[in-house]
Amino acid sequence: DAIVRIEGLRKAYANGVEALKGVDLDIRKGEILALLGPNGAGKTTLINIVCGIVTATGGQVLVDGKNWLQDFRSARTRIGLVPQELTTDAFESVWATVSFSRGLFGKPRDDAKVEEILKRLTLWDKRKSEMRELSGGMKRRVMIAKALAHEPDILFLDEPTAGVDVELRRDMWELVRKLRADGTTIILTTHYIEEAEEMADRVGVIRKGELVALGDKKGLMAQL
Ligand code: ADP
Ligand code: ADP
Repeated sequence: DAIVRIEGLRKAYANGVEALKGVDLDIRKGEILALLGPNGAGKTTLINIVCGIVTATGGQVLVDGKNWLQDFRSARTRIGLVPQELTTDAFESVWATVSFSRGLFGKPRDDAKVEEILKRLTLWDKRKSEMRELSGGMKRRVMIAKALAHEPDILFLDEPTAGVDVELRRDMWELVRKLRADGTTIILTTHYIEEAEEMADRVGVIRKGELVALGDKKGLMAQL
């Protein structure tokens, strides 16, 4: 039941940094998997490879047992990514931001779908607002809506609560659980142990480009 299988994944950047040194990892359908590790461990590199933003220098990624590269378009369409940084246009409306993102994946325009996503993320009342008018928490919600616009069933969140205050962090956790309840498989990176503990079914610990531990959170937290 691995929806994504990562085998021997390696990444050496052009400057010689070995960000990943052969990572094996199965992502199970319907789970919330947290990748926990300090800054520089290789978490972002790993999810950026699976999401097609960075090229691996070794190993492979399988989606539903098929080599991801052989079927790049369909694999990529199943995956949504919420990067750490804001990638929205300050002068674009919330509606346009989400609707346009759907188009980028070659999905036909579907206003009802965009409406559903905005309502699910409690952004409907803000649909006409420009991005620059929104609070930080709302902007993060739009980033998630944007990642969901093409209806992926696997969602990657890179440090979803970095630099976010406690209240917003709770909001984010609740939202992630809701998305999972709707059937989305979720992988998130974090450097907060409490966040991994609170959110995830399983936790993978990454250190210096290696997966050093992986397990359900009870067993794993006992080891730490
Ligand atoms: P994390 O997300 O765990 O903080 P990253 O994947 O961002 O880790 O980084 C892993 C390592 O790779 C770090 O040493 C980082 O400096 C390096 N790195 C990341 N991106 C690049 C890049 N584009 N070029 C060179 N080195 C990079
Ligand atoms: P580029 O032309 O940028 O070098 P490639 O044609 O090698 O990219 O790869 C196309 C896409 O596939 C890239 O976005 C990259 O992130 C991804 N990719 C490359 N190698 C692998 C791999 N072994 N497993 C999964 N994805 C990969």
